[in-house]
Amino acid sequence: MRLAALLRQAPIEFARAVYGINDHASGRTDTMAAREIARAIRQGTPVTQERAEQRSRAYLPTAGQEHCPRCWVVYGHKSPLRFREATEERPETATCSACGAEYATALD
Ligand SMILES: [Zn+2]
Repeated sequence: MRLAALLRQAPIEFARAVYGINDHASGRTDTMAAREIARAIRQGTPVTQERAEQRSRAYLPTAGQEHCPRCWVVYGHKSPLRFREATEERPETATCSACGAEYATALD
């Protein structure tokens, strides 16, 4: 369940990375996606569309050791996700302390 939900995020993160790359290239540096790309460049791991696409296809989280789709697609890093249990108000989410991404892990 968690894995299926996270797997759906990889192509979304790829699309977001492409927005970021395009925004960054055209000087729209104030978007969230562009800031992520700028951060990757500052960290010495500039991301290309090709590389982000390859990584989004290769994203394969393991049960119990799920890693963040965004960190993987943008940086190639395996950042562990932390799961927050569902409450009455909200479904379970997975959060990444490295990049701040938050994902709903329940499929609707
Ligand atoms: Zn992350």
